[in-house]
Amino acid sequence: MDFHCHLDLYPNAREVYKEACRRNSFTWLVTTSPKAFAASSRALVPSSNVLITPGLHPEIVHERAQELDLLLEQITTVPAIGEVGLDGSSRFQATYDVQRRIFSAVVARCECLGGRVLSIHSRQAVKDVLAELNLHPQFGTAVLHWFTGTSSELKAAEAQGCWFSVGPAMFNSNSGRALAAKLPRERVVPESDGPFAKLEGQPVMPWSMDVTAALLADAWGVTSDSAMNILEQNSIRLLKLIQAPQLVKHGPGAP
Ligand SMILES: [Zn+2]
Repeated sequence: MDFHCHLDLYPNAREVYKEACRRNSFTWLVTTSPKAFAASSRALVPSSNVLITPGLHPEIVHERAQELDLLLEQITTVPAIGEVGLDGSSRFQATYDVQRRIFSAVVARCECLGGRVLSIHSRQAVKDVLAELNLHPQFGTAVLHWFTGTSSELKAAEAQGCWFSVGPAMFNSNSGRALAAKLPRERVVPESDGPFAKLEGQPVMPWSMDVTAALLADAWGVTSDSAMNILEQNSIRLLKLIQAPQLVKHGPGAP
Protein backbone atom coordinates (compact mmCIF):
# COMPACT_ATOMS: atom_id res chain seq x y z
CA MET A 1 0.00 0.00 0.00
CA ASP A 2 1.02 3.59 -0.57
CA PHE A 3 -0.84 6.60 0.83
CA HIS A 4 1.09 9.36 -0.96
CA CYS A 5 2.54 8.89 -4.41
CA HIS A 6 3.03 11.21 -7.40
CA LEU A 7 2.51 8.31 -9.73
CA ASP A 8 1.68 10.57 -12.67
CA LEU A 9 5.13 12.18 -12.49
CA TYR A 10 7.39 9.14 -12.95
CA PRO A 11 9.09 9.27 -16.37
CA ASN A 12 7.37 5.99 -17.31
CA ALA A 13 4.11 6.75 -15.50
CA ARG A 14 1.89 4.30 -17.37
CA GLU A 15 4.21 1.38 -16.61
CA VAL A 16 4.54 2.35 -12.95
CA TYR A 17 0.76 2.72 -12.74
CA LYS A 18 0.22 -0.73 -14.21
CA GLU A 19 2.75 -2.26 -11.87
CA ALA A 20 1.26 -0.47 -8.83
CA CYS A 21 -2.18 -1.82 -9.77
CA ARG A 22 -0.71 -5.31 -9.90
CA ARG A 23 1.45 -5.19 -6.76
CA ASN A 24 -0.47 -2.91 -4.37
CA SER A 25 -3.87 -3.45 -2.82
CA PHE A 26 -4.11 0.34 -2.51
CA THR A 27 -2.24 3.33 -3.97
CA TRP A 28 -3.16 6.96 -3.33
CA LEU A 29 -2.12 9.05 -6.31
CA VAL A 30 -1.89 12.65 -5.11
CA THR A 31 -1.77 15.24 -7.89
CA THR A 32 -0.14 18.66 -7.64
CA SER A 33 -2.74 20.77 -9.46
CA PRO A 34 -6.44 20.63 -10.39
CA LYS A 35 -5.54 20.44 -14.08
CA ALA A 36 -3.11 17.58 -13.42
CA PHE A 37 -5.91 15.79 -11.56
CA ALA A 38 -8.22 16.18 -14.54
CA ALA A 39 -5.51 15.03 -16.96
CA SER A 40 -4.46 11.99 -14.88
CA SER A 41 -8.07 10.95 -14.33
CA ARG A 42 -8.54 11.02 -18.11
CA ALA A 43 -5.23 9.41 -19.08
CA LEU A 44 -5.14 6.48 -16.66
CA VAL A 45 -7.49 3.53 -16.94
CA PRO A 46 -9.56 3.64 -13.74
CA SER A 47 -8.55 1.01 -11.21
CA SER A 48 -10.51 0.10 -8.10
CA ASN A 49 -7.32 0.04 -6.02
CA VAL A 50 -5.88 3.40 -7.08
CA LEU A 51 -7.36 6.58 -5.64
CA ILE A 52 -6.58 9.72 -7.67
CA THR A 53 -7.16 12.97 -5.81
CA PRO A 54 -7.07 16.67 -6.70
CA GLY A 55 -4.61 18.97 -4.97
CA LEU A 56 -2.64 22.18 -5.29
CA HIS A 57 0.95 21.76 -4.16
CA PRO A 58 2.22 24.71 -2.08
CA GLU A 59 5.43 24.81 -4.12
CA ILE A 60 3.59 25.68 -7.32
CA VAL A 61 0.82 28.01 -6.13
CA HIS A 62 2.52 30.95 -7.82
CA GLU A 63 1.64 29.55 -11.24
CA ARG A 64 -1.57 27.69 -10.35
CA ALA A 65 -3.47 29.95 -7.94
CA GLN A 66 -6.06 30.69 -10.63
CA GLU A 67 -7.04 27.00 -10.56
CA LEU A 68 -8.44 27.31 -7.02
CA ASP A 69 -12.06 27.51 -8.19
CA LEU A 70 -11.60 24.33 -10.20
CA LEU A 71 -10.11 22.62 -7.14
CA LEU A 72 -13.02 23.68 -4.93
CA GLU A 73 -15.38 22.23 -7.52
CA GLN A 74 -13.43 18.95 -7.77
CA ILE A 75 -13.46 18.55 -3.98
CA THR A 76 -17.21 18.00 -4.09
CA THR A 77 -16.76 14.82 -6.15
CA VAL A 78 -13.98 12.99 -4.26
CA PRO A 79 -13.56 11.46 -0.78
CA ALA A 80 -9.99 12.70 -0.32
CA ILE A 81 -7.76 15.66 -1.28
CA GLY A 82 -4.05 15.90 -1.89
CA GLU A 83 -1.50 17.16 -2.16
CA VAL A 84 -2.31 20.40 -0.39
CA GLY A 85 -0.67 22.28 2.47
CA LEU A 86 1.85 24.96 3.32
CA ASP A 87 5.59 25.29 2.75
CA GLY A 88 7.26 27.80 5.07
CA SER A 89 10.81 27.28 3.82
CA SER A 90 12.66 30.37 2.59
CA ARG A 91 12.42 29.29 -1.07
CA PHE A 92 8.65 29.70 -1.02
CA GLN A 93 8.36 32.64 1.38
CA ALA A 94 7.26 34.96 -1.43
CA THR A 95 4.10 32.93 -2.04
CA TYR A 96 3.29 32.12 1.58
CA ASP A 97 0.27 34.45 1.73
CA VAL A 98 -1.19 32.88 -1.42
CA GLN A 99 -0.46 29.41 -0.03
CA ARG A 100 -2.38 30.28 3.13
CA ARG A 101 -5.33 31.66 1.21
CA ILE A 102 -5.58 28.50 -0.87
CA PHE A 103 -5.08 26.04 1.98
CA SER A 104 -7.64 27.90 4.07
CA ALA A 105 -10.21 27.79 1.26
CA VAL A 106 -9.62 24.04 0.79
CA VAL A 107 -9.99 23.20 4.48
CA ALA A 108 -13.12 25.36 4.76
CA ARG A 109 -14.60 23.63 1.74
CA CYS A 110 -13.89 20.18 3.21
CA GLU A 111 -15.68 21.21 6.39
CA CYS A 112 -18.60 22.57 4.42
CA LEU A 113 -18.98 19.24 2.63
CA GLY A 114 -19.03 17.18 5.82
CA GLY A 115 -15.35 16.20 5.92
CA ARG A 116 -12.63 14.82 3.67
CA VAL A 117 -9.32 13.03 4.18
CA LEU A 118 -6.40 15.31 3.29
CA SER A 119 -2.81 14.45 2.42
CA ILE A 120 -0.94 17.48 3.72
CA HIS A 121 2.49 19.00 3.09
CA SER A 122 3.69 20.89 6.19
CA ARG A 123 7.39 21.60 5.70
CA GLN A 124 8.43 24.36 8.13
CA ALA A 125 4.77 25.25 8.51
CA VAL A 126 3.35 22.72 10.99
CA LYS A 127 2.10 25.39 13.37
CA ASP A 128 0.17 27.24 10.67
CA VAL A 129 -1.22 24.00 9.22
CA LEU A 130 -2.50 22.91 12.63
CA ALA A 131 -3.95 26.39 13.33
CA GLU A 132 -5.85 26.29 10.05
CA LEU A 133 -7.23 22.82 10.76
CA ASN A 134 -8.26 24.03 14.22
CA LEU A 135 -10.34 26.80 12.69
CA HIS A 136 -12.40 24.16 10.86
CA PRO A 137 -12.93 21.36 13.35
CA GLN A 138 -15.23 19.36 11.05
CA PHE A 139 -12.81 19.37 8.10
CA GLY A 140 -12.30 15.59 8.29
CA THR A 141 -8.98 13.76 8.75
CA ALA A 142 -5.46 15.09 8.22
CA VAL A 143 -2.63 12.86 7.06
CA LEU A 144 0.64 14.77 7.46
CA HIS A 145 2.97 13.39 4.84
CA TRP A 146 6.75 13.12 5.39
CA PHE A 147 6.60 14.99 8.69
CA THR A 148 9.72 17.10 9.34
CA GLY A 149 8.60 19.26 12.27
CA THR A 150 9.97 19.39 15.79
CA SER A 151 9.15 16.93 18.57
CA SER A 152 6.76 19.38 20.19
CA GLU A 153 5.02 20.01 16.84
CA LEU A 154 4.69 16.26 16.49
CA LYS A 155 3.02 16.11 19.89
CA ALA A 156 0.65 18.94 18.94
CA ALA A 157 -0.25 17.22 15.65
CA GLU A 158 -0.86 13.96 17.48
CA ALA A 159 -3.09 15.72 20.01
CA GLN A 160 -5.10 17.20 17.13
CA GLY A 161 -5.76 13.72 15.76
CA CYS A 162 -3.44 13.85 12.74
CA TRP A 163 -2.24 10.74 10.96
CA PHE A 164 1.24 10.41 9.45
CA SER A 165 2.30 8.89 6.15
CA VAL A 166 5.90 7.76 6.23
CA GLY A 167 8.28 6.55 3.53
CA PRO A 168 11.83 5.19 3.31
CA ALA A 169 13.29 8.64 2.52
CA MET A 170 12.32 9.90 5.98
CA PHE A 171 15.10 7.69 7.33
CA ASN A 172 17.80 9.33 5.20
CA SER A 173 18.47 11.86 7.97
CA ASN A 174 19.17 11.49 11.68
CA SER A 175 16.36 13.91 12.52
CA GLY A 176 13.93 11.90 10.37
CA ARG A 177 14.90 8.67 12.12
CA ALA A 178 14.50 10.29 15.53
CA LEU A 179 11.03 11.60 14.62
CA ALA A 180 9.96 8.22 13.23
CA ALA A 181 10.66 6.63 16.60
CA LYS A 182 8.25 9.08 18.25
CA LEU A 183 5.30 8.73 15.85
CA PRO A 184 2.03 7.51 17.36
CA ARG A 185 2.12 3.91 16.13
CA GLU A 186 -1.63 3.58 15.71
CA ARG A 187 -1.72 6.48 13.21
CA VAL A 188 1.14 5.71 10.81
CA VAL A 189 0.59 4.54 7.22
CA PRO A 190 3.12 3.87 4.45
CA GLU A 191 3.92 6.28 1.62
CA SER A 192 6.50 6.47 -1.14
CA ASP A 193 6.31 10.17 -2.18
CA GLY A 194 7.94 8.94 -5.38
CA PRO A 195 9.35 9.99 -7.70
CA PHE A 196 10.44 13.01 -5.61
CA ALA A 197 11.58 10.93 -2.65
CA LYS A 198 14.74 9.02 -3.37
CA LEU A 199 16.58 6.13 -1.81
CA GLU A 200 20.23 5.66 -2.80
CA GLY A 201 19.67 8.03 -5.72
CA GLN A 202 16.67 6.13 -7.12
CA PRO A 203 13.02 7.24 -6.90
CA VAL A 204 11.10 5.35 -4.21
CA MET A 205 8.52 3.09 -5.87
CA PRO A 206 4.87 2.74 -4.74
CA TRP A 207 5.47 -0.87 -3.67
CA SER A 208 8.07 -0.01 -1.01
CA MET A 209 5.89 -0.68 2.03
CA ASP A 210 8.11 -3.56 3.17
CA VAL A 211 11.16 -1.26 3.13
CA THR A 212 9.26 1.29 5.25
CA ALA A 213 8.14 -1.47 7.63
CA ALA A 214 11.72 -2.68 8.10
CA LEU A 215 12.96 0.86 8.83
CA LEU A 216 10.09 1.54 11.25
CA ALA A 217 10.73 -1.80 12.94
CA ASP A 218 14.26 -0.64 13.62
CA ALA A 219 13.09 2.71 14.98
CA TRP A 220 10.39 1.13 17.15
CA GLY A 221 12.40 -1.85 18.36
CA VAL A 222 9.93 -4.41 17.01
CA THR A 223 10.20 -7.11 14.35
CA SER A 224 9.61 -6.27 10.68
CA ASP A 225 6.57 -8.55 10.70
CA SER A 226 5.07 -6.71 13.59
CA ALA A 227 5.74 -3.29 11.99
CA MET A 228 4.17 -4.59 8.76
CA ASN A 229 1.15 -5.76 10.71
CA ILE A 230 0.75 -2.36 12.41
CA LEU A 231 0.94 -0.59 9.02
CA GLU A 232 -1.66 -2.94 7.53
CA GLN A 233 -4.12 -2.51 10.38
CA ASN A 234 -3.70 1.28 10.32
CA SER A 235 -4.15 1.33 6.55
CA ILE A 236 -7.46 -0.50 6.80
CA ARG A 237 -8.70 2.00 9.40
CA LEU A 238 -7.64 4.99 7.30
CA LEU A 239 -9.26 3.52 4.18
CA LYS A 240 -12.50 3.28 6.10
CA LEU A 241 -12.20 6.97 6.98
CA ILE A 242 -11.71 7.75 3.29
CA GLN A 243 -15.13 6.15 2.95
CA ALA A 244 -14.31 4.35 -0.21
CA PRO A 245 -15.92 0.96 0.31
CA GLN A 246 -14.63 -0.39 -3.00
CA LEU A 247 -11.10 0.24 -1.73
CA VAL A 248 -11.66 -1.27 1.72
CA LYS A 249 -12.98 -4.44 0.13
CA HIS A 250 -9.61 -5.17 -1.47
CA GLY A 251 -7.75 -4.82 1.83
CA PRO A 252 -4.18 -5.90 2.37
CA GLY A 253 -3.04 -9.13 0.82
CA ALA A 254 -5.30 -8.75 -2.20
CA PRO A 255 -3.50 -9.33 -5.49
ZN1 LIG B 1 4.36 14.76 -2.27
